[in-house]
Amino acid sequence: MSSHQEYSFFGAVEQSFDKAAAFTNWDPGILEQIKQCNSVYRMHFPVKIGDKIEVIKAYRVQHSHHKTPCKGGIRFATSVNLDEVMALAALMTYKCAIVNVPFGGAKGGITIDPKKYTPYELEKITRRYTHELIKKNFIGPGTDVPAPDYGTGEREMAWILDTYMSQKPGEVDALACVTGKPVTQGGVRGRREATGLGVYFGIREVCNMAEVMKKLGLEPGVEGKTVVVQGLGNVGFHAAKYFREGGAKVIAIAEYEGAIMHPDGLNENDVFQHRKKTGSILNYPGATNITKSSEALELECDILIPAALENVINGDNAPRVKAKIIGEAANGPLTPEADEVFTQKGSLVVPDMYLNAGGVTVSYFEWLKNLSHVRYGRLEKRFTENQNKNIIKEIEGLTGKKVNDTQKSLIEHGPDEVDLVYSGLEETMITATREIMELWLNNPAIPDMRTAAYVVAINKVATSYAELGIFP
Ligand code: GLU
Repeated sequence: MSSHQEYSFFGAVEQSFDKAAAFTNWDPGILEQIKQCNSVYRMHFPVKIGDKIEVIKAYRVQHSHHKTPCKGGIRFATSVNLDEVMALAALMTYKCAIVNVPFGGAKGGITIDPKKYTPYELEKITRRYTHELIKKNFIGPGTDVPAPDYGTGEREMAWILDTYMSQKPGEVDALACVTGKPVTQGGVRGRREATGLGVYFGIREVCNMAEVMKKLGLEPGVEGKTVVVQGLGNVGFHAAKYFREGGAKVIAIAEYEGAIMHPDGLNENDVFQHRKKTGSILNYPGATNITKSSEALELECDILIPAALENVINGDNAPRVKAKIIGEAANGPLTPEADEVFTQKGSLVVPDMYLNAGGVTVSYFEWLKNLSHVRYGRLEKRFTENQNKNIIKEIEGLTGKKVNDTQKSLIEHGPDEVDLVYSGLEETMITATREIMELWLNNPAIPDMRTAAYVVAINKVATSYAELGIFP
């Protein structure tokens, strides 16, 4: 299965599922129900582009209804096809289960190259797609809630929201029909950076596990570790930022036109600005060019972060990958063959379906905010600040000492929305990492962390099916 033509992404997800299902005791019928995609919607619709009518191909797949609404992003790319959308929808189910986000998995996609259209044309396509979803009841706060994915962002989510609201006047919870919206349109602060920050929290937690690091021949902690990031999109950019701020060195960044390398570490924002200005990541002042982008994956480093598309590390190049830790920020960057290679080599693969769950976790916070119609922190911020001020005053009175101004403002500070979102995300990622690791370390027969993550996910989904009484 190493050749790209034969590769089925959904097949790879099924293969990983089966590998893990062997470590559970669920009825084969239950396992089969969990594995299948429940509803698949493929559509064609016409959109007038210039003076031509273009027929646009698009999808929405709801993988599981064990919890509702279904949840998952919408991708705009020429590579979008049914197999891919099904695989990504299935990953969403497992991802949500692991981080205890009460949604079923879904995914959508439009087979277009967004760079070939003007913003006006993209808006027309996005609105028509939303209209098709509404017609079949494939979108709504309680049925199916899209979000950004590869090739889409806040702008597209705002168009989706506006189309939905214009057709559902008076629907009180309409804002919750899509997440990843601009903050001015009902979005939540912290959603933009959530996936990259979640990747950082997850890897940091793994790096803090001394036993795990010892097996890899690494020192505990993120600080001082060398990192290679593939993809400077929203996820890769923020992952690089938090690794740098956490004291790691981002020694290389790759994009599709090439990669750049600097042994002292790169600043992702400067690199981003350079790329924006020159149209290429290459020729960044002081860095070494790597003209073949895929070679960046094979650089000597501690942590490799593939943050672009699926199937970039396969049976062919995995033997040349030198990183000790591979953190899957993208969905499905490794094939099952690559997994085998890393298990043999003793490298640690931290799997996508929980490592990149930060995005959907904060989407969940956004959905809750929309349903409650109130900004996080609005009720308690001032109350907490007043309470903290009183505590400081009391301590100063009792001890006769003054708390310095920096400490004072730190202690007094009541939570803003972004503080609550970050801490909720941190808690979620730490808990998920520990749960998966514990299961893995207590079951030596489980070959890798991905299989352990699938076992956790399968157990949770199967339990909620059982609780629903679907399997008497
Ligand atoms: N597209 C993102 C993912 O793959 C986010 C999904 C969401 O927020 O619903 O996890």
